[in-house]
Amino acid sequence: MLKAWFAIPLWQRVVAALILGGITGYFWGPGAESIKIIGDIFIDFIKMLIVPLIFFSVVSGVASIGNLGKLGSVGWRAILLFVITGQVAVWLGLALGTWFEPGVGLDTSAIPMGDTPEPAAFDWREMLRSMIPVSPVGVMANVQVLPLIVFSLLVGIGILLARGDVEDDDEAETDSGVRGAAMIARAFDGGALIFQKITILVMELTPFGVFALMAWVVGILGLDAVVALAKLVGMNYLGCLLIIGVMYTGILAFMARVSIGGFFRGMVDAIAVAYSTASSSATLPVTLRCTQRNLGVSKPTSSFVVSLGSTINMDGTAMYLGLATLFGAQIFGVDLSTTDYLMIALLATVGSIGAAGIPGGGLVMMGAIFTAVKVPLETIAFVAGVDRIMDMMRTATNVTGDATVTVATASAMGEIDKGELKSADDV
Ligand code: ASP
Repeated sequence: MLKAWFAIPLWQRVVAALILGGITGYFWGPGAESIKIIGDIFIDFIKMLIVPLIFFSVVSGVASIGNLGKLGSVGWRAILLFVITGQVAVWLGLALGTWFEPGVGLDTSAIPMGDTPEPAAFDWREMLRSMIPVSPVGVMANVQVLPLIVFSLLVGIGILLARGDVEDDDEAETDSGVRGAAMIARAFDGGALIFQKITILVMELTPFGVFALMAWVVGILGLDAVVALAKLVGMNYLGCLLIIGVMYTGILAFMARVSIGGFFRGMVDAIAVAYSTASSSATLPVTLRCTQRNLGVSKPTSSFVVSLGSTINMDGTAMYLGLATLFGAQIFGVDLSTTDYLMIALLATVGSIGAAGIPGGGLVMMGAIFTAVKVPLETIAFVAGVDRIMDMMRTATNVTGDATVTVATASAMGEIDKGELKSADDV
C-alpha cells in the first residue's frame, strides 16, 4: 500500500489531491472547515524550514566562492542582472493583476476573518534600519528574512576572510583559527544538505495539505472559488511564459549572443527537474551540470552565479508575489494606492530574494507583503491549495533565469566555451 503510494510521482499525487479536495469541498460545504487544520499544519512545516534553510544555504554559498576578489568581479555583473530582471518580473505581475483582475467578483464574506493587519506607514529610514540584524537570535526567532540574509552574508564573508588565501599560505594551514574556519564552512555545507533532505520529507505532506485547503476553500465559497483560482493559475503561467519567452530569450540573443535553441536543449533536464520538484535548491546540482557540461560555462563562474542565483534570483516568484497581492486585494475588496503599488514592488523584490528555494518558499513570503498593504492574511490559506501547480512553473522560471544570467555573465567575462551553444551569429 505504502509502496504503491510512493511509486506515484509526487506531482501526480498533488494534482489528484487538488481535484479530490475540490470535489470533497463542493459536496461537504462549509463543514470542510473541520479539516483545514491539516492544511495549516502543512504550512507550519514549510515555515519551520525557512530560517535554517536561508541561514545554511546563504552562508555555504558565500563561503564556497573561495576569495573575495572573485565575489567582486563576477558578482556585480550577476547581481545587477538579477536585480533588473527581478524588477521587470515584479512589474509584470502587477500589470497582469491590474489588467486581468483575476480576483474581482468573488464574494468572500463567508471566510471567517482574523485580525486585519495594521498597515505599516512606509519610512525608508526604518526600512534601512530593519535590515540590520541587531540580535541575530531575535531575527531568527521572529523569522525576519531580510536581516537574516544580511547576517548570513556577513557570516559567509567572515569565513572567507578568516580562511584567507589558504592555498597560497602554508603557515595559514597550520593556524588553528584558519583550520577552524575551514571546518565551520564545511559544517555549513552539511547543514544546507541536511535541511534540503528535510525539505524533501516535508514535501511528502503536500498532497494532504493541498487536499485539506482545497476542500476548505471550495466548501466555504463554492465553485466561484474554483473559477477565481483558475484565473490566478492562468495568470501565473502566462506571466512566467512571458518572462522566459520574452525577457530571457532577449538577454540570451542580444546580450549573451548565444543560440536560444541550444540554450533550451542544454537546460531541458534542469527545467524538467525544477518543474517536477518545485525546488530551485533541489534542482541546483542539475542546473550546475547543465550550465557546465551542456552550456560550456566555466566551473568557477557557474558554481558561483548559479548557487547565488538559486538563493536570491527568483523572477517567477517575484512576479507571482506581485500578482498574488493584487489577487488578495481584489477578493477581499481592499483599495490600493500608488504608494501601495510601490511598496508591493519593493517587498516582492525583497521577498523573492529572501524566499528559500523550496516548494512553497514564495508562499511563505506573502505574509510580510500582505501586512504592509493591509491585505487580509486569509489570502494565504485561500491560494495555498493551488500553490503547488503555480510553484512548479515559478520554479522552472527561476531556474531558467539563473542559467540565463550565468550565461550572460560568463559571456561578458569570456568564461564560456560556446562550442555546442553556438553564437547567435552562427545560427
Ligand atoms: N519553489 C520556488 C523555488 O524553489 C520558490 C517559490 O515558492 O516561489 O524556486
